[in-house]
Amino acid sequence: MHQRPAIAAIATPVGEGGIAVIRISGADAIRIAGSIFHGAKLTDVASHTVHFGKVVRDGHIVDEVLATVFRSPRSYTGEDTVEISCHGGVLVSQMVLETILAAGARSAEPGEFTQRAFLNGKLELSQAEAVADLIHAKSRKAVEAAQQQLEGALGAHIRAFRQGIIDMVAMVELELDFIEEDVEFASREQLLALIAALNTEISKLLETYETGRLVKHGVRTVFAGKPNAGKSTLLNALMGKDRAIVSDIAGTTRDVIDADWSYDGMLFVLTDTAGLRDTADLVEAEGVRRSHSAMKDADLIVLLHDVSTELSENDESLWMRLRDTHPHTSMLRVGNKADLAAGCDLSRFDLCISATSGAQLDVLKKTMRDAVLKNKDIDTSGLLITTSRHRDALAKTRQHLFDAEAAIHAGQTGDFVAIDLRAALQELGSLTGQITTEDLLDSIFSRFCIGK
Ligand code: GDP
Repeated sequence: MHQRPAIAAIATPVGEGGIAVIRISGADAIRIAGSIFHGAKLTDVASHTVHFGKVVRDGHIVDEVLATVFRSPRSYTGEDTVEISCHGGVLVSQMVLETILAAGARSAEPGEFTQRAFLNGKLELSQAEAVADLIHAKSRKAVEAAQQQLEGALGAHIRAFRQGIIDMVAMVELELDFIEEDVEFASREQLLALIAALNTEISKLLETYETGRLVKHGVRTVFAGKPNAGKSTLLNALMGKDRAIVSDIAGTTRDVIDADWSYDGMLFVLTDTAGLRDTADLVEAEGVRRSHSAMKDADLIVLLHDVSTELSENDESLWMRLRDTHPHTSMLRVGNKADLAAGCDLSRFDLCISATSGAQLDVLKKTMRDAVLKNKDIDTSGLLITTSRHRDALAKTRQHLFDAEAAIHAGQTGDFVAIDLRAALQELGSLTGQITTEDLLDSIFSRFCIGK
């Protein structure tokens, strides 16, 4: 196990709490911790033991702490590690950290502990990414999806794919050694069948990305409609608190307001927009422009109408225009203020609600969920692709396999087929981290917080 120079960071969030944990990892971690710790001699204690003592700097007690010692390789990073639990004050935890830094450790970069875990083979790259996903998860489904990946489910699939391709490359390359004899170790039918089977598996996994993306990032939902339709009231009703400004002066919501809302374990990022209307007011016009821009990125647009007023031709054309300009976005047309109207024409609306009385809100929530997930039950116990990097690598792998297939059909020799198969292997290797570049690692680990 490679042990790098010791790094240290506060691993718990900044703020006041019962305890704060400071983590030190690296070649000198135990010696450094031992040099500032008055209590048991940490360099002599067994792995996975906890010790009560004091952190002392220049003869002064900084704090009473617990020190937990993990000896390499049985630690998160694989290196010698000490975790010091001190009192959870902002200043006191900072003072303990500074004492450790003064004793010879260096401040850790974001994600550096996890990066060391990866470099020491404790985690595959996709598992390290799952650690960040788990920390950032904002919904139950996102937690479950990250847990799956952390358990190594994606890694196991990719290893199986890699093995399949390695076997094929071996067959084809063996043939190249006997080129003079003109033997075919790998029957072309057999190769084609293997490639087709692999591509089916990869395609199945790729198909989970659309749902996986929604699980991980949330469903971007935009409430649109004319001013006063009740968009802000609806957002507040779903959130169960006053998040957006409600007023019966049309044009009150002038900017775009975002709010995280959970339903059935899924995160929805709700966006309340300025009403969609032509306006001479410059500030409001800017709000309308931002509404259109929010809709461009939306997964779901909920167009609200005030059904207590007559539906105008303008309303109809707005709906048509939205549908034409966002052909790939799920859309719901909802009649609001049903409590004020004598009736609500369900041939025009997917649903009629009252944002103030709460009538039909439960049905609306379920309809919103079903509109984006197309009635799919999200089974987070199965594997979901949630990261565009993984999707791209799998799509490229599949493309290389298609190329190999085409080369076989064109009657190309084994060395050409092997080039495509090797390119597919390369892509899969980048997914799990067998093949990496510094840029890739930097972009992945910089997403982490310091101390993880
Ligand atoms: P927005 O401009 O679309 O965001 O509209 P607001 O949410 O600010 O609502 C405009 C006015 O309509 C406010 O006075 C709300 O109280 C009222 N309102 C919204 N929804 C309903 C509803 O379902 N029933 C009734 N009676 N009033 C509503």
